[in-house]
Amino acid sequence: MPIKLAVNGAAGRMGRQLLGAISERPDATLSGASDAPGQASIGVDASVLSGGNSTGVVVEDNLSNIVKSSQVIVDFTAPKVSLAVLEAAVDTNTAVVIGTTGFDPEQLEQLHSYARRMPIMFAPNYSVGVTVTLDLLAKAARALGDDYDVEIIEAHHRHKVDAPSGTAIKMGEVVADALGRDLATCAIYGRQGITGERETKTIGFETIRAGDIIGDHTVLFAGNGERIEITHKATDRMTFARGAIRAAVWLSTQPAGIYDMRNVLGLD
Ligand code: NAD
Repeated sequence: MPIKLAVNGAAGRMGRQLLGAISERPDATLSGASDAPGQASIGVDASVLSGGNSTGVVVEDNLSNIVKSSQVIVDFTAPKVSLAVLEAAVDTNTAVVIGTTGFDPEQLEQLHSYARRMPIMFAPNYSVGVTVTLDLLAKAARALGDDYDVEIIEAHHRHKVDAPSGTAIKMGEVVADALGRDLATCAIYGRQGITGERETKTIGFETIRAGDIIGDHTVLFAGNGERIEITHKATDRMTFARGAIRAAVWLSTQPAGIYDMRNVLGLD
């Protein structure tokens, strides 16, 4: 039987792609679609959003309905909304894939506490390429050590509401971890004015917001006389959507816990 997947935030940029990615897979079926009350998409056939064939699923604004009809909820919305999805799904032990970024530390703690009671997939980036890039970064950082300054530069479209991106922060965490540093104390977010010389062992972040850029990330390791740039560029949101739906199918058979794309790809 195909795995029953629902999409919350179905009318969003990612929601529409997720609907399309579900329709590509023979082992998954769309069992529900929802968005915020008052949205123009409520009451509309979900296929209108994805541009695909009708599955008979209508977009609704009632989370508990989609939880009842589904094995996994896929949610790319906003931090408060994602936490509400976990609350709606926890009693039935329904699995949740979260793509939302921009959680503050308190919200992250809440998210992790739900993972004791239900299966949660949580990744700032569901592309296979970024997951592999994170491994390359850890390897590069370990080999280069403290002699190379690390700067992380990311670019996204003008509508993105959080900065730096969840992916950039994850890249910073991976590099900091490989270098034995704590990102919370070594990160520098943007520079302006008389900043003084660069402090060693810091990790700098620079953010670009412009046009329709889907997601570019570069980690720069700069030493004396040379520099290495490790870059990932997303050119199509479907890369995130296909990864998230692959993750949802994988998550449907897992016990309570928190997982990410490394688990899905078998990299651990
Ligand atoms: P978007 O604004 O286009 O879509 C968000 C959708 O959520 C909208 O349709 C909105 O109406 C809906 N929504 C808002 N409140 C809601 C509620 N209470 N109930 C149900 N739906 C609600 O945003 P987007 O570009 O699709 O991005 C969404 C999130 O996904 C962002 O945090 C973004 O950073 C993240 N993202 C993650 C990845 C990844 O691979 N993890 C990739 C791309 C985007």
